[in-house]
Amino acid sequence: MAKNHRGKLLKQTVPGAGRGTCPACGRTGIKVLHEVKAGEKTVKVCKNCRHIDGAKLS
Ligand SMILES: [Zn+2]
Repeated sequence: MAKNHRGKLLKQTVPGAGRGTCPACGRTGIKVLHEVKAGEKTVKVCKNCRHIDGAKLS
């Protein structure tokens, strides 16, 4: 699997290198790159939250 969430590529492709606030754990300044399915839509969460159930997010 390619390292889509790391390094130079990330800076080129994602604004702010993907950093933001994770909606699941509320951490700021973390890379919010992983998509979790929450019903119809997908929510982007940080690496720590990528395995949680997206249905718990609102
Ligand atoms: Zn998180």
